[in-house]
Amino acid sequence: MAMDEKSEYNLKRLGFPPRAKNDPTGAMNQAIVEYYRCPENLAAFQLAGKVSEDPGYFRFGPETICYGKSSSGFRSKEVIGPLYDALNDVTAADGTVRLPLDPNDILQNLRYERYSNNGHEGQSPLGAPPVVRDFYYRLRPYLPLPIRKHIQKARLSDWTKIAFPRWPVDRTVERILERLLVLSMKAQAVHQVPFVWFWPDGATSCAIMTHDVEELAGRNFCSRLMDLDDSMGIKASFQIVPEKRYPVPDGFLDEIRDRGFEINIQDLNHDGHLFSTQEQFLRRVERINEYARKYRALGFRAGALYRNQAWYGALDFSYDMSVPSVAHLDPQRGGCCSLMPFFIGRILELPLTTIQDYSLFHILNDYSIELWKQQLTSITEQHGLASFIVHPDYIISKRARATYQALLELLARLRKDRKIWIPLPHEVDRWWRQRSEMRLLSVGNRWRIEGRGSERARVAFATLVGDELAFTVEGPN
Ligand SMILES: [Zn+2]
Repeated sequence: MAMDEKSEYNLKRLGFPPRAKNDPTGAMNQAIVEYYRCPENLAAFQLAGKVSEDPGYFRFGPETICYGKSSSGFRSKEVIGPLYDALNDVTAADGTVRLPLDPNDILQNLRYERYSNNGHEGQSPLGAPPVVRDFYYRLRPYLPLPIRKHIQKARLSDWTKIAFPRWPVDRTVERILERLLVLSMKAQAVHQVPFVWFWPDGATSCAIMTHDVEELAGRNFCSRLMDLDDSMGIKASFQIVPEKRYPVPDGFLDEIRDRGFEINIQDLNHDGHLFSTQEQFLRRVERINEYARKYRALGFRAGALYRNQAWYGALDFSYDMSVPSVAHLDPQRGGCCSLMPFFIGRILELPLTTIQDYSLFHILNDYSIELWKQQLTSITEQHGLASFIVHPDYIISKRARATYQALLELLARLRKDRKIWIPLPHEVDRWWRQRSEMRLLSVGNRWRIEGRGSERARVAFATLVGDELAFTVEGPN
């Protein structure tokens, strides 16, 4: 039997119907296949009816909020108030699921934050009217930290009232993907689906530590910060602002590299204007790309997590780390509603999934690690990527440093007890890219993963338990 025939045979054995030739709905399977790396002949989806002209909020199950166009019920301009549940309109017949929405579209609206300008016409996407933001940034260098804190607190004071994304952890993207897989399995009366496990060597989840270097004092603290990280066996990336903020001597970069830490580019000059106009962005990105080559950096992060995913094509980086999953406490609100890496064109996004040290210490005035712990527990239970930003600048004080030390200890403990993978960000980028090209083949009565890096990959199974999925991971081959 040829390999493809064998696959087909095994799928039949598992209860899958044979793959329809020239399946016109293949494009709607794409998001699920890309996410799970499961056999392509798994799901058959069709759009039921014609989608609306107007996008808006609706539900897809009682717990899951979507934004976009749909072909049933109504869509709301605001998240508050009763939302229509489009899951009730899903039908299935002959192994095909008919959906009142296009899953690719709905998922992109969340990942690219296309929902976030809705209902805020009076505001710029950067959270405050441009004039106010300009004024703030012009004054910022002259404002002492307590006054800056006060202004930021006042600007962010309504954050507890934001209904969507969900604070402090939002995984709407993954919930939608799980719901789609469940629908497909039920429609085809399949009990179990094989897929490529999310993380290498059977790790339950992943965590990365990243340090954004803001000012000279922070730059001068990097050596001691590396000592601190090393004392817990955790390597981190340093995001360097290449212009204006502080000198970047070669010796500084060499030390980071030589000690096995990673260098990334943070913005260009961190003046808050990187995304103000597309023309300016494109002009600045040329220099940013040059610095990436000079520093041999693979990753990028914008100052203050300002972002516009529609322009990312100009960035000459392998990955980006500027998109929070829930941005309630960041100057640009919104969030990608995901705990997993995802592609924005050819750039891989490693979303920020936990609160920044600055927001924790200076907006919430909290020096405990309880919130970090709560987020980390929730993310690791869902097999997600827990990513942290801790600034060298903000942990120079003894009190803040003790909090950071406690976070490092927690991470080291979880790595041992719960098998969390804690690599450098560029290793996550490499793994996720390799996984995105892996193929699951059935050989004999087993599944095997093929492709670069597959020696670290594990076969996993999603099993239907009621309306939910349970995951199991096989041992090494
Ligand atoms: Zn910064």
